Amino acid sequence: MRILAIESSCDETSAAVVCDGRHILSNIVSSQVDIHALYGGVVPELAARQHLEAGPLVVEQALQQAGVCLSDIEAVAVTQGPGLVGALLVGLSLAKGIAWGAGLPLVGVHHIEGHILAPLLERDLAFPFLALAVSGGHTHLYRVEGFGQYHLLGQTLDDAAGEAFDKVAKMCGLAYPGGALIDRLAAQGDGCRFALPRPMLQHEGFDFSFSGIKTAVLTLLKKQPELALPPHLANLAASFQEAVVEVLSKKTFAAARQQRLERIVIAGGVACNSGLRQRCLALAQQQGVEVVFPSPALCGDNAAMLAVAAEARLQGGAAGYRSFDARPVWPLEQVTSRSSGTP
Ligand code: ATP
Ligand code: MG
Ligand code: FE
Repeated sequence: MRILAIESSCDETSAAVVCDGRHILSNIVSSQVDIHALYGGVVPELAARQHLEAGPLVVEQALQQAGVCLSDIEAVAVTQGPGLVGALLVGLSLAKGIAWGAGLPLVGVHHIEGHILAPLLERDLAFPFLALAVSGGHTHLYRVEGFGQYHLLGQTLDDAAGEAFDKVAKMCGLAYPGGALIDRLAAQGDGCRFALPRPMLQHEGFDFSFSGIKTAVLTLLKKQPELALPPHLANLAASFQEAVVEVLSKKTFAAARQQRLERIVIAGGVACNSGLRQRCLALAQQQGVEVVFPSPALCGDNAAMLAVAAEARLQGGAAGYRSFDARPVWPLEQVTSRSSGTP
């Protein structure tokens, strides 16, 4: 089945054409980060306006690059939530317009379901597996039994890991979003230079907390402002990254052991982090489990990832709908293998 997918939940406008939920024919991502960087974070109203401007162009480009016309498309997938309500509504309206105009079924997909299933665009992956969704808005561990079967095992109680990366980067005077910049600096620094807390590591269960690590960095910077400058900055970045990576990796592997799962998917923007990738791949080898990271282009927000769930849902006999509302707040556990909406 050829699916046109549209993503607009935050600050990336993306459209993709994906064949059979596996083969990416195109995956165009138009990022707004340059605009939001001026304000040090995402401005929801600006995000919605940018999606409005970029959306139709990005869809046009995705069709063109895939070498197909709208008449070759068999279904439309769109991010239904969670995300910024204005941003979601723009993508949803565009997708509804296309689906109505072309007489196609429309499938609303959960953004985090998209992130978690992204590896299926690159390889086979058997259920069940453990999934760590680690991004700008989420740090959630799930047991994934199948398409539409997600059981929450733990989540952050405060900041998401990506949010902590971005806030620490901002404190250090780095540009927004700072996760990748911290990653690059950390590669040249000493991760043992500053002792930072490892929140929740000693707690039972699989919840996380990152605001304490962030506050510890802030306290250091208040006492020694020179730490935000070279040559100290690389050590600070490395120490912060080390603390986050240790907590994420230890909790994730402990959850896999407890759940007796031999496969772990780590997805979302922070899954690009080189420290996290190295640590988890090393632990996987030691413990005889398999850890799967999407390639970096499929870790960040993109539309192709939505087509995996949409294809599975339609092939499973779920109806496509013409109309449904955006769900800015939407726990993944509420997703089922069927879509819902107004026929
Ligand atoms: P969500 O998926 O929870 O709705 P989002 O869509 O805004 O949030 P993503 O686009 O999946 O989040 O990921 C963006 C986040 O990933 C940002 O916080 C960014 O700083 C972070 N990030 C990207 N690359 C890296 C990296 N190399 N190291 C650490 N963090 C990174
Ligand atoms: Mg983003
Ligand atoms: Fe995301």
